[in-house]
Amino acid sequence: MVNIYYDRDADLGLLKDKTVAVLGYGSQGHAHAQNLHDSGVNVVVGLYEGSKCWQRVLDDGLAVATVPEAAARADLIVFLVPDMVQPQVYTQIKPHLRPGKALVFAHGFNILYGQIKPPADVDVFMVAPKSPGHLLRRMYQENKGVPALIAVEQDYSGKARAMALAYACGIGSTRAGVLETTFQEETESDLFGEQVILCGGITALIKASYETLVEAGYEPHVAYFECLNELKLIVDLIYEGGLSLMRYSVSDTAEYGDLTRGPRIINEQVREEMRKILKEIQTGAFAKEWILEYKADAPLFNALRRREREHPIEKIGAELRQMMPWLKKS
Ligand code: NAD
Ligand code: MG
Repeated sequence: MVNIYYDRDADLGLLKDKTVAVLGYGSQGHAHAQNLHDSGVNVVVGLYEGSKCWQRVLDDGLAVATVPEAAARADLIVFLVPDMVQPQVYTQIKPHLRPGKALVFAHGFNILYGQIKPPADVDVFMVAPKSPGHLLRRMYQENKGVPALIAVEQDYSGKARAMALAYACGIGSTRAGVLETTFQEETESDLFGEQVILCGGITALIKASYETLVEAGYEPHVAYFECLNELKLIVDLIYEGGLSLMRYSVSDTAEYGDLTRGPRIINEQVREEMRKILKEIQTGAFAKEWILEYKADAPLFNALRRREREHPIEKIGAELRQMMPWLKKS
């Protein structure tokens, strides 16, 4: 049985006399830094010299230093720069590692795929919130939290697990529940999730259903409301009460269509492709492809990004969302 840890299982006091260097002030970085600071932890944000975030960190009332300076001062060094940038940032902090310091990750990619190889005399652990950074911050401010995974890769101090729980407590995640996993399980399941459902699967389903309606002559605005806008309302119900609450809420006709047609969309061929994608993750083929793509200045990535931004559903969406002023941009 899996253990789930809550506030009562964590000792925030373990971080009391420690300094935490949060490297990066993007989606995760700003949320970790601010939540830890509000929990009474001594935080310094590490940025590269001339970063446009520098003033923002000061305005948010936090200490800021260059990456090497922050790492030199810190007991815990937290990697919240993009995964593809972490190996290069690691070379900058490496001279400042001392026995017993901790390297903290929010995703296991670089450790699992060998892009960062820490010495044996530091702790290496993960605290990975299962949420975008902005929600991590907002939920903390509302006295709530988002769930997180913790994992210990290397326990030099003998306290790595307790420190991971203390850190999870500091960012508010022990309010919601913290699961213990491994770097391998977190990385592989995270990549699988974002490729197959959360990002890749769902955007492909939205576009394919929208295009099918529009090709058949239906009004694009109607197709947008049906295939994109309403998705949030359906997902909110699933999030709140599982598939059952959603099915309870929709009409019998919708539920009959769901039960009989859903399996025809996600059929055996689609499941086979899911298994293939999982294999590519497990063998490191995906990691290798992405690392090489990034090193080549991401030509494919940039081209795909551009093409996707120009998809008609994005134009229609921008127009329709303007008429819904309550959809504030975050
Ligand atoms: P991000 O792209 O939002 O932010 C990156 C930050 O790093 C920015 O502040 C950027 O200015 C800074 N940066 C970039 N290059 C730098 C350099 N050379 N030196 C110093 N700073 C530099 O990144 P993110 O999405 O917050 O991801 C950070 C980590 O968190 C990754 O390991 C990611 O896998 C993990 N993670 C992200 C999310 C998420 O919702 N975004 C969720 C869970 C885990
Ligand atoms: Mg994820």
